[in-house]
Amino acid sequence: MPFDSLGLAPALVQAAARSGYAAPTAIQAAAIPAILQGRDVRGSAQTGSGKTAAFSLPLLQRLATERPQASRRVRALVLVPTRELAAQVGETMQGFAQHLPERLKIVVAFGGVSINPQMMSLRGGADIVVATPGRLLDLVEHNALRLDAVAMLVLDEADRLFDLGFAEELGRILELLPKRRQNLLFSATFPSAIQALADGMLHDPAVVDVQGEPDTAPDIVQRVIEVDASRRTQLLRHLLKQHENEWDRVLVFVATQHAAQTVAEKLYRNGIYAVPFHGDIAQRTRTDILSQFKQSRWDVVIATDLAARGLDIAQLPVVINYDLPRSPTDYTHRIGRTGRAGESGLAISFVSASTEAHFRLIEKRQGLRLPRERVEGFEPVEVAPPLVDASGTGGIKGKRPSKKDKLRAAAAKAATTGDAPETND
Ligand code: AMP
Repeated sequence: MPFDSLGLAPALVQAAARSGYAAPTAIQAAAIPAILQGRDVRGSAQTGSGKTAAFSLPLLQRLATERPQASRRVRALVLVPTRELAAQVGETMQGFAQHLPERLKIVVAFGGVSINPQMMSLRGGADIVVATPGRLLDLVEHNALRLDAVAMLVLDEADRLFDLGFAEELGRILELLPKRRQNLLFSATFPSAIQALADGMLHDPAVVDVQGEPDTAPDIVQRVIEVDASRRTQLLRHLLKQHENEWDRVLVFVATQHAAQTVAEKLYRNGIYAVPFHGDIAQRTRTDILSQFKQSRWDVVIATDLAARGLDIAQLPVVINYDLPRSPTDYTHRIGRTGRAGESGLAISFVSASTEAHFRLIEKRQGLRLPRERVEGFEPVEVAPPLVDASGTGGIKGKRPSKKDKLRAAAAKAATTGDAPETND
């Protein structure tokens, strides 16, 4: 199916062609016509499947064809959970919008940097605002923008925005929006609890689910290596050296900011260009690190889950889970950083005796069972610690814990490995 059969204006069809898109992806083919018709949409598709263009192209078209207003009022609001994603989505939209005959003003706003330039750029209004929730509310409080003319709302990585960390801010923002508007919710994952919340704000939505369609499933090889927790950095170094020529960029996920710092420092001291990336690093530095990583000036980024969502790093061949993610959902997002836009990718998870049960839980949710590998010289010697009911939720005293209790206790233990969870904004 060609792009020009979706109802898009010729300028936007050309914009897609200039971005090198030969044909729409499955999510684009399904969502674009529904959005152009003005319908609400709930879209689930694997990360990297072209979701940004799926909502950006029809959104730009709707705004461009609407009657121009005397003053620019924000007509479309795109909410995203991380600053990096805000910058990325804003950039993609700007790229498409520059081909339109009508000039649409797009402002990107996120926290961690001075609010003043964002307030300045909102002077005279804007057509589209792409923002993280916290900074958006700050801007509203500073009277830098109003949201009462928003006709289109996009929640990108929607499930994350409904999460506890954002729920309150999201609720406050929704109250500032007109009741009548088009809602577009996109995510790679919609856990069932979130799905109910999402459906509550959608009116007769077009439900577009292209998860698992053979042509949309990214080509990611998943591997699991058994290693003792204490030897993971050495194994990481070994693998990086061994694959030096094939792996030009590697993204390594750890559980805490502290781990990101220490692992990156150890690698750097051993001659590997590794840099930490987490929420405690100044925003300007975070932005620099990402662009330098994309330009291959860093070989390895050691990140917390801050980097797990939505980031589009072309030709990222490998993602390594040094620490396992807290949840199966986070696992999906992490490994989705590789294998993007039709490329193939490799995701390696380190598993030790004490995290094996947690990984089994992740596999179970994915409907997977991966073979355990060992690397010569790094064979594990640790045995699983006796199960303790760390969470206080599994098992009743005196009762033999069930298999589920054991898995839960192990998962809780694996998840409580240090710092407080990362927040994005
Ligand atoms: P996203 O899922 O929006 O992060 O997009 C993932 C990647 O796919 C980005 O690098 C896009 O430029 C690319 N992409 C989006 N749509 C298409 C398409 N129709 N054909 C080829 N690549 C695309």
